[in-house]
Amino acid sequence: MLNLDTVKAGEELLRLENLKKYYPANKALLVKDRKYVKAVDDISLSLRCGETMGLVGESGCGKSTLGQTILCLEKATAGKIIYRGVEVTSLKKDDMRELRREIQIIFQDPYSSLNPKMTVGSIIAEPMLVHHMGSAAQRYRRVGELLELVGLRPEHAKRYPHEFSGGQRQRIGIARALAVDPKLIICDEAVSALDVSIQAQVLNLLRKLQKELGLTYIFIAHGLAVVKHISNRVGVMYLGKMVELAEGDGVYKNALHPYTRALISAIPEPDPEKVRQREILVGDVPSPVDPPSGCRFHTRCPHAAEQCRQSEPVFRDVGGGHFVACHLVK
Ligand code: SF4
Repeated sequence: MLNLDTVKAGEELLRLENLKKYYPANKALLVKDRKYVKAVDDISLSLRCGETMGLVGESGCGKSTLGQTILCLEKATAGKIIYRGVEVTSLKKDDMRELRREIQIIFQDPYSSLNPKMTVGSIIAEPMLVHHMGSAAQRYRRVGELLELVGLRPEHAKRYPHEFSGGQRQRIGIARALAVDPKLIICDEAVSALDVSIQAQVLNLLRKLQKELGLTYIFIAHGLAVVKHISNRVGVMYLGKMVELAEGDGVYKNALHPYTRALISAIPEPDPEKVRQREILVGDVPSPVDPPSGCRFHTRCPHAAEQCRQSEPVFRDVGGGHFVACHLVK
């Protein structure tokens, strides 16, 4: 039986040590000829119980793969995932099932993530059934409670997903994730498919649930604006690597990495009096099969120098828990 340490608010819940997830890009027989898509490449970080960590980056930067690797939906190529003191990567099947109950995911698309042939009640009850939680009557009662918790009504359990709006469907997805009393929820672009006004409602709901239930979130998004108000810390990823990570609004007020600065300059400014200098990135994101030498961002960085092409910058703490990987930052 898996013996998980009890973790109090503020203590370390999850630690990633040099985590890598590579996918084979060809079927070469000789090891030297094999190529890999380096979706997640040497990520180390620590997540505190009760906090929200925002993870941001362009499509293909590896943030969703990182979430799926933490969930063990993808097997890590190398490195460690330590959850509540237990190394997840070495767990047996039964222990993995117990751990999976504690870590849940809310998917991006509320339309395709709910089975259209199942009633909302069956959708929410399914994870409880899989984890053998409660009797049928207890599960039925719990579905009603969960629907109320996410702002819907118990009688909605009898309806089908197509009878709901996008925002309501995402509330159903949240209720499903909460059904098995998780500690950590990975919100994988959970509001990206919703209208802006609905995004705010769902973000407020997630914040309310976090306070009430003591949840910890990893909130994955492709823009910094979405994660700003929900995150205690924000990490920025580029081509499988973490390039900047800071507490609070550190990356917004004092962005150190040129890539983060470019992302911030892309956030729309609501005050027409303020003019924000846009930093437009040139070129496309390079292939993760053959990433650029040295700093992976050097092909698009306006400050790239010879050193950037030769050596990879170390991801280091430059003070106050503000980490960055850039040769320019002393
Ligand atoms: Fe730009 Fe060089 Fe810093 Fe990379 S290390 S972000 S190329 S200045």
